[in-house]
Amino acid sequence: MSRRFFVDSPIIGETAVLTGQEAQHLSKVMRAKVGDELILFDGSGAEFAARVENIGRSAVDMSIGERCEVDRELHFRLVIGVSLPKGDRQRWLVEKLVELGVTETVPLVTARSVAQPNGNALERLRRAVIEASKQCGRNRLMAIREASTFEAFLTSAADSDRRLIAHPPNSHEVAATWKSPSSHVVVAVGPEGGFTDEEVAQAETRRWNKVSLGSRVLRTETAAVAIAAAIVIA
Ligand code: SAM
Repeated sequence: MSRRFFVDSPIIGETAVLTGQEAQHLSKVMRAKVGDELILFDGSGAEFAARVENIGRSAVDMSIGERCEVDRELHFRLVIGVSLPKGDRQRWLVEKLVELGVTETVPLVTARSVAQPNGNALERLRRAVIEASKQCGRNRLMAIREASTFEAFLTSAADSDRRLIAHPPNSHEVAATWKSPSSHVVVAVGPEGGFTDEEVAQAETRRWNKVSLGSRVLRTETAAVAIAAAIVIA
């Protein structure tokens, strides 16, 4: 998977151009040469055999060979709403959610949230999605949505068929119940201070199920990764 590169516009003809960080990575870090062969993906679900034709200062010209539809996605939609932790833990979280196949991540603004993700922070996380996708072989990018209030997130999940709110302790839904087939699962994970009682009640009123991840209190990013993993392998 190490020679995969992302092109941020649809690959439709016999050529493509790598620009920005991808061009820098290929020419400066990987020290590519004309004639080198690698894999390109454009987020459409396909990957493409490609050959380096010209290496410029800020762009690399590629010729495109075979197009292959390679499906490494989950067969259901998995949306994780999470009140983001601070600093580097955000990037770690995003990387793991990409690896697990999560479809969308929505930064939640809850009563006790500390990190308020802004434009630049979201762009950095979207870049982390590309890096993780290059590494793990995904040909579709996990979406990082704009930050959402908890209320709006609950509303947006109304047409999903499984809604889970992670909340310790004394939660009652067990892993076995996750095994029923679902096509659209939505999960909410709270901030370091947890969801307020009002937020939990608000979710339950809208038919969300509380879910326990065991008797220990996990950090937000651990909880988000643990519940995504449990759903993916159930
Ligand atoms: N004192 C806070 C509380 O009681 O909610 C702890 C919050 S925890 C650090 C951050 C978030 O991770 C929680 O809001 C919850 O969504 C999730 N979480 C952590 N441990 C959990 C567990 N054992 N079961 C379910 N969710 C958990």
